[in-house]
Amino acid sequence: MYDVAIIGCGVIGASLAYTLSRYDLRVLVLERENDVAMGTTKANSAIVHAGYDPEPGTLMAKLNVQGSAMMEQLCADLSVEYKRIGSLVLGFSEEDRKTLGRIYENGVQNGVPGLEMLTGEQARGMEPALSADVIAALYAPSAAVIDPWGLCIAEAEVAVRNGAELRLRSEVTGLAEHGDFCTISTTTATYEARYVVNCAGVDAETVYRMTAEPKFKTLPSRGAYYLLDKSSGDLVSHVVFQCPSAAGKGVLVAPTVHGNLIVGPNAEEVRSSTDRAVTAAALDAVATAAKKSVPGVDLRQSIRNFAGVRANTTLSD
Ligand SMILES: Cc1cc2nc3c(=O)[nH]c(=O)nc-3n(C[C@H](O)[C@H](O)[C@H](O)COP(=O)(O)OP(=O)(O)OC[C@H]3O[C@@H](n4cnc5c(N)ncnc54)[C@H](O)[C@@H]3O)c2cc1C
Repeated sequence: MYDVAIIGCGVIGASLAYTLSRYDLRVLVLERENDVAMGTTKANSAIVHAGYDPEPGTLMAKLNVQGSAMMEQLCADLSVEYKRIGSLVLGFSEEDRKTLGRIYENGVQNGVPGLEMLTGEQARGMEPALSADVIAALYAPSAAVIDPWGLCIAEAEVAVRNGAELRLRSEVTGLAEHGDFCTISTTTATYEARYVVNCAGVDAETVYRMTAEPKFKTLPSRGAYYLLDKSSGDLVSHVVFQCPSAAGKGVLVAPTVHGNLIVGPNAEEVRSSTDRAVTAAALDAVATAAKKSVPGVDLRQSIRNFAGVRANTTLSD
């Protein structure tokens, strides 16, 4: 009998296993793939957000700001790449200026440290490659870039060293509750645990359905990227965002912890949680948006395109 069974070993399942493995508990981690960090954790923008986006007063706002403050030490403890380089959200119109004012106020209420509203000239002073059309920007010095799959791998490794049991190629196919414990069926074996935590990412709804009818529906949203050669890695020195919209945080241009430049993502609803196809239309949309922020971005320096799938739902975060 395990005390806690964790379904899924992306960055969330691995973080939970890492934390629980410090206690005197029998911890089991079940992952369907043949390695950890094979889901959304391996294909995203790799930004530790400052915390001005979430609605003030929500759990997400609180955890975003707390998590951002904890991340540097966590990465140092685990020897994971992390760079606190700050972010700029750009405004190109009076409408954008209003959005920047709103997210600045959100950020202040959420307790994000050091937020500053900048003019276009001030933003270009910090980031000379920005477009001449930028009229205002929100600067968030606490934003950072990270190696998200490195964090997941390091947390899983430490958890296993501390005694957690990781079972790869073990897809959970059924859950049954029996009073104070659960039976967990997988493609390879059956386990029993007092507590089960669903960390299945975009497939969390499928796992939820094994015990109850969910009150939400998952709307997988795919985002595609260009990863540019290190010769382009210093084109910008901050994470450069555009104003957020209903579709998400928009296309960014940012240096990575490894010295490359990442450009993307778009946002496109897809039917399948595993549909990570990169399409010409998605790359065109990313290229057009990125050039609006940083006209000199040279996408011929691309060494890799990839896409990740967000676990958007009919509920907000
Ligand atoms: C385009 C894009 C950009 C993003 N940018 C950022 C960003 O800059 N900053 C940020 O903080 N977040 C960002 N995110 C979100 C972030 O990547 C995710 O929130 C995070 O990776 C989710 O981790 P997870 O562990 O919940 O999910 P995942 O990494 O998907 O892990 C879930 C795991 O569960 C496993 N699994 C699923 N079903 C089962 C089953 N039945 N049995 C066993 N195992 C199962 C999967 O194989 C997978 O390994 C972005 C996401 C996308 C798509």
